[in-house]
Order: sequence, then structure tokens, then C-alpha cells
Amino acid sequence: MTEKSEINQILIKFENNKNRLMDILLAINDMQGYVGLEDMQSIADHVGISVVQVQETATFYHFFSPKPQGKYNIYLDNSITAVMNGHAEVKEAFEHFCGTTFGHVSKDGLFGLYNTSCIGMNDQEPAAIINNKVFTNLTPYRVKNLADDMRAGKSPDELMYEDFGNGNNAHPHVKAMVNNHIRKKSIILRNDYEPFRFLTSKLKDYTPETVISEIEASNLRGRGGAGFPTGLKWRFGRRTDGKHRIIICNADEGEPGTFKDRVLLTEYSDLVFEGMVVAAFATGSDIGLLYLRYEYKYLLRFLNHKLEVMRRNRFLGNNIGGVEGFDFDIRIQLGAGAYVCGEESALIESLEGKRGEPRDKPPFPVEKGYLGYPTIVNNVETLATAVKILYRGAEWYSGFGTKDSLGTKLLSISGDCLYPGIYEVEWGTTIREILAMCGAKNIQAVQVGGPSGMLIGMKDFHNMDNSELMKWYKPSGMMIAEKFFDRKLSYSDLPTGGSIMIFNNSRDLLGEVVMNFMDFFIEESCGSCSTCRNMPIIMKNKLQKILDGHGTREDIYDLLNWGKVLKASRCGLGQTAGNPILSSIFHFRHLYEQRIQSLTHFDSGFDLEKAMAKTRNYVHKKPAFHHF
Ligand code: SF4
Repeated sequence: MTEKSEINQILIKFENNKNRLMDILLAINDMQGYVGLEDMQSIADHVGISVVQVQETATFYHFFSPKPQGKYNIYLDNSITAVMNGHAEVKEAFEHFCGTTFGHVSKDGLFGLYNTSCIGMNDQEPAAIINNKVFTNLTPYRVKNLADDMRAGKSPDELMYEDFGNGNNAHPHVKAMVNNHIRKKSIILRNDYEPFRFLTSKLKDYTPETVISEIEASNLRGRGGAGFPTGLKWRFGRRTDGKHRIIICNADEGEPGTFKDRVLLTEYSDLVFEGMVVAAFATGSDIGLLYLRYEYKYLLRFLNHKLEVMRRNRFLGNNIGGVEGFDFDIRIQLGAGAYVCGEESALIESLEGKRGEPRDKPPFPVEKGYLGYPTIVNNVETLATAVKILYRGAEWYSGFGTKDSLGTKLLSISGDCLYPGIYEVEWGTTIREILAMCGAKNIQAVQVGGPSGMLIGMKDFHNMDNSELMKWYKPSGMMIAEKFFDRKLSYSDLPTGGSIMIFNNSRDLLGEVVMNFMDFFIEESCGSCSTCRNMPIIMKNKLQKILDGHGTREDIYDLLNWGKVLKASRCGLGQTAGNPILSSIFHFRHLYEQRIQSLTHFDSGFDLEKAMAKTRNYVHKKPAFHHF
């Protein structure tokens, strides 16, 4: 048990500040492996909030534990690309060699096994986090070695055998087995960037107004998926009065299948941080916060080191770039595992030390955000792109992409292809071209934009009575192309935050892919809205009924109608939680039709024998109705 004085030291370090509750909980959880009720009471007494408020935060995030865990805690990624690359065998191996099952701690207290959603390693699955270190490309053989080494008492660092990944993954402050897999570079990733050159050589020629105007002229739109015009957001932020203004870099990329921000932070962190400084100059902000997802904790030391170098070189601090009165600094806030924190207001709640529940809007963060101050939230890629635009000019930038979607987009490509990884392509690139780039063959479907996006196929199947669906479900607001793979990445056709997952003809799209996505949404709902809390479960059960051969056409209409109900949810998570089922009905209707029964036949899907099987095991009785 940890000495009370050690917990007090942590509280003192964070100045007994309730807004630093995440840091306090992270530090205690790191130190002793859990945050118990007694610890929560102690925190509450010191920071001046109720123990219930501390519990609310401590029980919300995946990586906080209320009770002691193992000496080694293994979080195995259960995303669909992990499943496609041997997750089941690796999971079985962990259970076999660690002597416990997932969700439990081994009797000797050595191993805790846990499932977790996508950890941002889809190009090198199966992957797991063991005591904050990432292990990629796992196999049952590697799991055996890991278990042996852990039993021998090796540290997480020693478990890696210095088998580090490329680029900065091998940096002394990172030391990760992760690989970048950068496959295609264009204007953002090209090696022509001189760190902080805009700050040193150009900033003095600009005013905040001319920076905003240049970004507006470039038509840069947010790269997180929503696509809000960046220049306009900066203008709104600048206009709002406040004692402080805040720039937040949203590095909480949790959409399964996306990992581009991980690579930007690993190899282009100067570009991202310079983007934060430029955004601060434009908006008149004095405080910068980078919210880093817990799964990327292995980058924290490296990124803090980068910030220290910036401070030494006066790229942070007072009078930055020689501009009198331009004072700005950046702090990195670590998350603790919650997909919903990618939503900007949930992220702000988390930054304030609370549960990551989205706020009602308005007011929007630019009016009232972090601690009530005007807050501008930008995606990692958006900030990196802004620097390139300012250095070369909006006119240069407008030479890339399409009329309504200028520039390039970073894609995270994974699944059934020869070359998964990061591709920087111009907006307007077709899915067909992308599939050729990454060496995909025998393709059945492509998931664009992660589980909240769209599942598209080679052919158009909507001649099979999708009229009801067509009335209201327009995934991108466009006519459906005759051949989906000729559709283009763009804000007017296929908008995307960057996740592209490919499924070949051997995949069970409904039973494997769609069910995995529905499990993800069920797990990640914050539970605030009854629609989002319940409908994904009900829809998943209905899909299971269809998969079990008990479905009728009415069940498909139920799914469509329930999908509409979900749209009433408060935030994007709930609003898109039905998309895996809806877009698969829309584009793969034949898979549903193959499994349903005739129109006239009604089947409740209830199987009495199956329902009683578990109970029967307990009472050791024969089937009650076997004589029927
Ligand atoms: Fe929470 Fe879901 Fe409602 Fe969003 S939609 S606020 S995640 S319950």
C-alpha cells in the first residue's frame, strides 16, 4: 500500500487544483496501479470537491482502475484490424501463458488482462499496451516470450529487446516498437520543412488579421472530420472577449483505423507545435493545451522534451518571434482512455478534470470553452497544414486538391492490403486509386472514416428497395455513384477524418466487421443520452437475430427506423453509432436479403432452448422440452 505522504506529494505537485484532477488520478494510478476509495476521499478533501465528483471522473476512463491490478497490465487492442490479423490466437495465448482470462488478474497477482478499443496501431496489429509500453505485431510465440520474461521480473523496457521502430520511435525519449509506415508524401509530409522558420523569418511581417485572412483564403477546413473552416474558427475566437484565450490541439485520435496523428506527433511535432504558436498569434491566445490520448503516452516524454527546446529557443514564453506582448506557452494533458473525448466539448470537460461528457451547444467552445474562456480547438493535422500554408501562401496551396476541397489529406490505411500505413493524397483522389496505391486485391468493401463513417462496396446494390432509407439517409449528401470505388475523397463526396479500412472477399462483413463496430460504440457511449445508451445495443441484437437466420424484412425496416432515433443523440458519437448497420444495409443490402426469411413469416427470434441452456448447466438438468 502506498504511503499517504506519497499521495500528498502528488496533490502538492498539482497544487491541490481540482482542474488537474486527471493528472492527480493518472499519477496515483501509475504509482500504485489503482485509485481506491480511500485515495478518492483524500483527493476530494484536498482539492475541495465531493468524493462523488472524484469518483465520477475516476470511473469514467478505461485506464483508471478502482482496485489493485496486476504487476503487469496488458491491454489488448480488439479493433477489427486486430481481429483480422490474429487477435483471437494472441488473446488465447495471453490467457494460456498468464494463467487468467481477460477482465481478471491472475491469482499470483502478476498479470492483469484487459480488452481495449483501438490503440492507434492498425498498421501493425495485433498490438497491446503493457505497463504503458506498446507492443506491436504480436504472435502467440511472442506472447509466450513476453510471459516468460515478465515471470522472470523483466521491466517493460527490457521486454522490448531494444527492437525499436523507425524514425523518432528509436529516440531515447521514445523507445517504442512502433513503426511509422509513411508510404506517400506530399506537401505536408515532404522533407522541406525547416522548424520554426515561419516564426523566425516571417511572423514579423504579419498581423493576426493577415494570418487569419491567409488561412481563410486557403479555405483550410478542420482535418478531424467535421471540416469546419479553420480561418473562420480563428476569427470567431479572436472576436470573443476573455481574460485568457486558449488554443487546444486535439491529439485524441480515437476513431478506429486512424493513426496519422500518431505519426505527425512522432516525426513532425515541431510542425504541429509551430501551428499552435501561429494559431495563438492569430487568435490572441496565451494558453496552449495539447490533449494527448493515453494510448500515446509513450510519446509524452519526447513531446515535453520538444517543448523544453522550444522554450530555450524562445519559441514559447514571452515576446515570441520578437513580437512585443506575444506571450504563449503549451502544456500537454494526458487523457485516460475515452473515445468520446475526441468531441471538442467532451475533451474540454476532461481537461477540466471531469468526466468526458459532451456539453450542450451553444455556447460553443469559441465563446465559452476551457474554464469558461474562449477556446479554439484544432486537430493535429489542421495545425500542421496551417504552417505550410502560411509559409508558402494560400495561392500555392490552392494548386492542390479540388475546387471545394483544397490541399491534401493524410490517410491511415489498414486492413486487407499489402502496404498499410500513412498516405498523403490530394483531395479528389478516388478510392480506386487509393486501393491501387496500397496493394489491395479481391476487395469486398472499404470503410471510409472509421466506424462512424461509411462502408462502401464495388457495386451499387441500392436497386433492392432502399427507397425508405434513401428518403433520409444521405451519407455524404450526394447522389450515389454507379461504382462506389470511383467516388472521390472530398468534402462534397466522401469526407473523411482519414481512416480507410479495407476488407477483402473472405471477410464476413456483417458478422465480423459490423458487429465489431457496434461493440465499439456500445463500449464507448458516455451513457448520457438514452438513445445512444440503448439503441446501439438493441440494433446489435436485431442484427444478431438476422445473422442467426431468424430475421424478416420487418427487422430491416426496424433497423432503419431506429437509426433515425439515434440521430437525436446529443453528440456525434450517438448520431453516428448506427452507421455501421445503416451503411451496410445501404451498400450491402444483398447480405441482409440473403439471411432474412419470407415477408409473411414472423419469427420473434427467441429460442427457448438456447435461452435456458445456461441455467440448465447450473442445475444439471436435461432439456425441459426435449420431448417436443
Ligand atoms: Fe454521450 Fe452518446 Fe449522448 Fe454523446 S450521444 S453525449 S456519447 S450518450
